[in-house]
Amino acid sequence: MGVFDDLVGQERAAVTLRRASAAGAELLAGGSGTGMTHAWLFTGPPGSGREEAARAFAAALFCADQGCGHCDMCHQVTVGSHPDLEVVRPQGLSYGVKDTRRLILRAAGAPALGRWRVVLFENADRATEGASNALLKAIEEPPPRTVWLLCAPSPDDMMITIRSRCRVVTLVTPPAAAVAHMLATRENIPPETAEFAARAAQGHIDRARRLALDEEARRRRDAVLSIPASLTGVAECVTAAERLVKTAEEEAAAVTSALNESETAELRKVYGEGSSGKGLNRGLIRGGAGALKELEERQKSRATRTKRDVIDGALLDLVAFYRDVLAVRFGASVELANEDHRADLERLAASLSPEDILRGIDAIMRCRARLAANVNPQIAVEAMALSLWRPGF
Ligand SMILES: [Zn+2]
Repeated sequence: MGVFDDLVGQERAAVTLRRASAAGAELLAGGSGTGMTHAWLFTGPPGSGREEAARAFAAALFCADQGCGHCDMCHQVTVGSHPDLEVVRPQGLSYGVKDTRRLILRAAGAPALGRWRVVLFENADRATEGASNALLKAIEEPPPRTVWLLCAPSPDDMMITIRSRCRVVTLVTPPAAAVAHMLATRENIPPETAEFAARAAQGHIDRARRLALDEEARRRRDAVLSIPASLTGVAECVTAAERLVKTAEEEAAAVTSALNESETAELRKVYGEGSSGKGLNRGLIRGGAGALKELEERQKSRATRTKRDVIDGALLDLVAFYRDVLAVRFGASVELANEDHRADLERLAASLSPEDILRGIDAIMRCRARLAANVNPQIAVEAMALSLWRPGF
């Protein structure tokens, strides 16, 4: 079993990456290395495993056997301790030019272990314009052993000048069967639960894992999917919108608060708190207050981002729900993502025309676009709920 065998439902991408790893090894040995290049763009829908694919490729570049999956190099990549692998994980809404310049400097160094220096840039689409321009320069004039692995939902999310200099690896939404198989074999999840989670998550690997393992996540999904049937009047629409936004806030808070606490504690330790009160004061004068403020701003930005991501996930669940309603309405013999909510699906299929169902899906997509454009979540979700209750209203 090599590192590429762990990718779920990405056979085509694995072929490309295996070839490139072999070419990389050839290049290091003094050969031509055709098929290896220093800038890669991993694209694919959320949850398809962009970062996992990029990480597997990094391991294959470091590993003497091109990604055996069990040597020390492969292991260090898995646990994140490889000295030549730099992982960038933008936490907030954007990634700025200052951070990017620091990153480029670090990336330019010679590899500590002699093979490659690899930068794995998750959510590279969050790089600001200034950051993207800095990144472009770095990619245009690369040090001989530096490899950039950028990850983004689609090539269109990156500046055209950057993506034209990258080789694009396109991941697909993994089939539910592949996700279920992974959950059952690697996470020891009972096959029935694995199948349910994979279907409900519609090929989003992390979400499938959460649904399989976390009862709270299943409860939140049920709450979201109970919304369509609950929309029987204006008051109900407003209440449903409020509930959806509040649930998202709770989930986002659960995700971010633990991170925030450990980061703040870490920073305070750096600036001398804990030794004595005076230590902190001196530290704060020397710049700790500024650093703390900067950290708080980053954390605020991350909280906003997380909340928006959580609401978006809920909206995608609703899209899948209405797609199921449409399938039931037409008696299509397709696998339903929300088989466990069949009673509600049938009730809505009986009461809505196909046009209404499509208008409903449209309303949800409009809500997603509004949220992406920074419209207040409560207002955007309320408008959506009203449209779902009275399609075309
Ligand atoms: Zn290995």
